[in-house]
Amino acid sequence: MQDRNLIGSEWISGSGEEIDVTNPATNEKIASVPNGGAAEARRAVTAATEALPEWRSRTAFDRGKILRRIANLMLERQEPLAELMTREQGKPLAEARGEIAYAASFIDWAAEEGKRLDGELLPASAENKRILVMRQPVGVTACITPWNFPSAMIARKLGPALACGCTMVVKPAEQTPLSAIALAEIALEAGLPPGVMNVVTGDAAAIGEELFSNPAVRKVSFTGSTEVGKILIKQSAQNVTRLSLELGGHAPFLVFDDADVKAAVAGAMASKYRNMGQTCVCPNRFYVQQGIYDEFVAGLTAAVEALRIGSGLEEGIEVGPLIDDPAIEKVERHVSDALEKGGKLRTGGKRAKVEGMADRFYMPTIVEDFTPDMTMACEETFGPVSPLRRFRHEDEAVEWANDSPYGLASYFYTRDASRLMRVAERLEYGIVGANDGTPSTAQAPFGGVKQSGIGREGGRYVMHEYTEIKYVSWGL
Ligand code: NAP
Repeated sequence: MQDRNLIGSEWISGSGEEIDVTNPATNEKIASVPNGGAAEARRAVTAATEALPEWRSRTAFDRGKILRRIANLMLERQEPLAELMTREQGKPLAEARGEIAYAASFIDWAAEEGKRLDGELLPASAENKRILVMRQPVGVTACITPWNFPSAMIARKLGPALACGCTMVVKPAEQTPLSAIALAEIALEAGLPPGVMNVVTGDAAAIGEELFSNPAVRKVSFTGSTEVGKILIKQSAQNVTRLSLELGGHAPFLVFDDADVKAAVAGAMASKYRNMGQTCVCPNRFYVQQGIYDEFVAGLTAAVEALRIGSGLEEGIEVGPLIDDPAIEKVERHVSDALEKGGKLRTGGKRAKVEGMADRFYMPTIVEDFTPDMTMACEETFGPVSPLRRFRHEDEAVEWANDSPYGLASYFYTRDASRLMRVAERLEYGIVGANDGTPSTAQAPFGGVKQSGIGREGGRYVMHEYTEIKYVSWGL
């Protein structure tokens, strides 16, 4: 297994210092990776710059063939890649397998979509002129990604960037660099020319600083917290670097009296407890209409209490460890704050002891009667906790749902077709799961409004993020 940084065609070690990668379930050291900084980032940008002219000049068909080979190799190696991901990130193996397939789907989609990039010939205002609009690759790009989806968050950026003819420097999260390095190994094996994809691990602030101060970098795509996203917005002013931002969320989940309660419970389980609640799109606030409240909470409690907690490497486990100690301490703080302020613990509410494992497992939890003054009502908990509140009517539920500085994902369940369209239109979120707890997919636009981000990933929409429009006024 490769554990070095990829710069051009070389696997390099950096300045000598190393960062340990540990299994969050056991604290066992799995590997160490280079603690790169500005110098390594600069070398990677140079490699990406040198690789650009040749890669950009290839046809989209040629680029697409290589991208499809990358996606196919990921699927062929789904099992070892999933195991590696579970070991460094902690998510259950079944979810890690799903993420590898999901990541490959972004690369596969982009391989095809690159062929459909088109331009326009517009009518001019003078007889002897034509207006030509063409789309060209942005150039050298970089991405900075989080630990919660170690493969998919890179693939969602890398696939379209490369399909459009850009080159990329990848800076993965400190906790999960191995999945990124494994993807780079596969890319080389698939025939990607050296320098088109580079990986630098290490000091995030130093690498970020270099990416934004280096004028060769024309675009940075970031997925992570809103807090870091705001720092990057400021840094991007130096060279007016283009930015895509996929930031934090605080998803509301509404269940109306006319909902199919079984489907709502299944949707809630899929969106809330996946990845131990450590996803940007997972519900942070459940608003349930009073007529079906008791039925919904009974169904949800039964499903939550049936979840199997343990090492993600064990088949059948549905809840693994949280990523690190600060993460589990944050969940504990949110739950005790809610209980002090009058919330009622329905189930869970404490750490789970798992024989032979690190003390980093938290019981899937339900807190009833949450109120807006509780920390969990406004900050991302990023853990397996569902806060529930009753509502009386639609206006109240929509108003509460929109009362957030975030606007990434939202969900609601109803069987009334008029309500479905009305509420979908009124929710101030980039993504609405209407009777659907898992809306993310490669061909759909993914992204947030308000402080959840700028830009869209997925589908044909992402291709705008990696292309510039050029207007040629053509005199005949
Ligand atoms: P984070 O702390 O913001 O880190 C994300 C990435 O940014 C990591 O690679 C990190 O590097 C890097 N970073 C940190 N400080 C930096 C700086 N000053 N300059 C440049 N890079 C810097 O977020 P996280 O804790 O990994 O991920 C969880 C957050 O991501 C949550 O808020 C979640 O909602 C959000 N998220 C959003 C989406 C979406 O699509 N909207 C998807 C997934 C996650 P190090 O790891 O080396 O510190």
